[in-house]
Amino acid sequence: MFLTSNMGSGVRVVVLGISQDGGFPQAGCNLDCCQSVKNNLSLTKHPVSMGIIGSDGSKHLIEATRDLAWQLNLWNTIESNETLLSSLWITHAHHGHIDGLGLFGKEVINAKKLNVHCSESLSKLIKRTPNWNLLVESENIIINPFINSISYTPSPNCGFKIKPIKIPHRAELSDMHAFLIIGPNKNLLFLPDHDTWESTLKFVNRRTIRDWFKAERIDFALIDGTFWSSNELVGRNQKNVPHPTVSETLKLIGNKKFEDPVIKFTHLNHTNPLNNKSSNEFLKVKKMGWSVADEGEIFKI
Ligand SMILES: [Zn+2]
Ligand SMILES: [Zn+2]
Ligand SMILES: [Zn+2]
Repeated sequence: MFLTSNMGSGVRVVVLGISQDGGFPQAGCNLDCCQSVKNNLSLTKHPVSMGIIGSDGSKHLIEATRDLAWQLNLWNTIESNETLLSSLWITHAHHGHIDGLGLFGKEVINAKKLNVHCSESLSKLIKRTPNWNLLVESENIIINPFINSISYTPSPNCGFKIKPIKIPHRAELSDMHAFLIIGPNKNLLFLPDHDTWESTLKFVNRRTIRDWFKAERIDFALIDGTFWSSNELVGRNQKNVPHPTVSETLKLIGNKKFEDPVIKFTHLNHTNPLNNKSSNEFLKVKKMGWSVADEGEIFKI
């Protein structure tokens, strides 16, 4: 499925997880969606996460999920590179994006001054949360709060930059930032969660999705594909779990045109038919020229 040798030089991004925060299968789900995985464990998917390898071989992780052991192992298998992480970037405080942070502590990795990059609001939450603050006090992690729309070089010779972009997303714990990864040749947008396209586009001051992607010179966009449709929220109030559905996004972007970036859906809920590669919904996305992100997939930027 993926190359097992070192991928050589150049900056590249590896997809380490494509599930919504709860993973797939999801705890407590006895419906058909998760039953299929219980019968075939190779269909298991992990909470959304990405790894970036700099041109100097340095490693940078986006999101700290509870499946970190599996994800780092996948990454090492693909790259034959067991270098320690140089930095960790976290989009927001919702469960699956940060619940693995404690793994950097004494009981597991026992990291030494790992640079963690997050917003001011998330850094305050980390310091207010006793078991995470212990990581700060023990110097397992050093928190570097970032500022919206400023590009950062994660380590001196990594050859790429990360620009956090503030995005409206239910902010009961912290705010949310998408990450634009600016490589020497290409740019990749990571937007796993947001509330609505209307509020996001208003916030970034663009009229359409294409206008925004063009303005940021985006070549690859990994975007929120949590739900296929609002039917998946039976028994839940959609206002409590707001995400633009994939159906809505497809209506807004239509078919892929030659000059469009590669757009891939990620952060899939366990109920999303896009988890099944032979579903009509999966085929529809493909037919329109778009796709679904795959764990182990590599983007050279
Ligand atoms: Zn999420
Ligand atoms: Zn399920
Ligand atoms: Zn979220």
